[in-house]
Amino acid sequence: MSNDFKEKVVLVTGAASGIGREAARAFASRGALVYGADLDEKGLAETQTLIVKAGGKARIARIDVSAEEQFSAFVKRIETEAGRLDAAFNNAGITGGAHRLEDYPTDDFDKVLRVNLRGVFLGMKYELPLMKRGGGGAIVNTASVAALTGPGGMSAYAASKHGIQGLTRVAAMENAAHGIRVNALAPGWTETPMVIANSAQNPAFAEKARAAIPSRRGGQPAEIAAAAVWLCSPESSYVMGQMLVVDGGMTIGGFEFQPNTQTPGSTGETP
Ligand code: NAD
Repeated sequence: MSNDFKEKVVLVTGAASGIGREAARAFASRGALVYGADLDEKGLAETQTLIVKAGGKARIARIDVSAEEQFSAFVKRIETEAGRLDAAFNNAGITGGAHRLEDYPTDDFDKVLRVNLRGVFLGMKYELPLMKRGGGGAIVNTASVAALTGPGGMSAYAASKHGIQGLTRVAAMENAAHGIRVNALAPGWTETPMVIANSAQNPAFAEKARAAIPSRRGGQPAEIAAAAVWLCSPESSYVMGQMLVVDGGMTIGGFEFQPNTQTPGSTGETP
């Protein structure tokens, strides 16, 4: 494993579980000092233990990403302790319930927007000045394929994730000349512990979902984390304001071509 994040300080939100945990582990395995944040203290401690056992460095903080004073205090702590911030993965998010728009509880709508969109806004608001003082950096915000599509029942989630793409583009535009690259990451159906548990409860739905993905399988959290690490690394030095879709082909559109082997002149097997 390369050591390309040696001496780098990386912030990861949603680090207690799923994609955020795998990203925290991946950054640490490449030499970074990782600051992991989440609401879930137990999960955070587990992530820290995994990193330390593997020989990496991690510090953790229980914060609500939608609470401005908590996020600003977290970034202040990073500045005091580490003196710099080289990369940030603003990844914490919630799905919210599934309801038709006319039935969507307004309080639930506000909550999803608060965590997913305000949380990313607050993250960048405090991360950017510290990165700028350190001479540059990279930010990745977790969106979703729901930033490109209209998943029925998920109005709040889709709105928040479309919003993340807009925030990402503005932040990229404002900071491209300051040595800070900002991009978004759009995972598809990713088999995090929660998704695996739901699939076990509803195997028929899981089967249908997998069948609808061209790769015929869900993504692994580590496959999404690898894309986040790449977007934060110098290897993506000319990529700015983009949303990288990592979805096993879910949003390709179109149809798979199956040659008809029965029809003479088809491109199928020759008899
Ligand atoms: P997850 O539930 O395993 O992880 C999300 C983490 O965010 C949890 O640890 C949770 O405690 C934390 N969190 C939630 N609200 C918070 C808050 N207010 N403050 C701080 N932390 C908070 O889910 P995941 O699948 O790893 O999700 C990570 C990101 O990926 C989310 O933004 C999600 O929307 C996005 N995503 C996931 C999938 C998927 O299929 N799993 C697909 C597309 C996008």
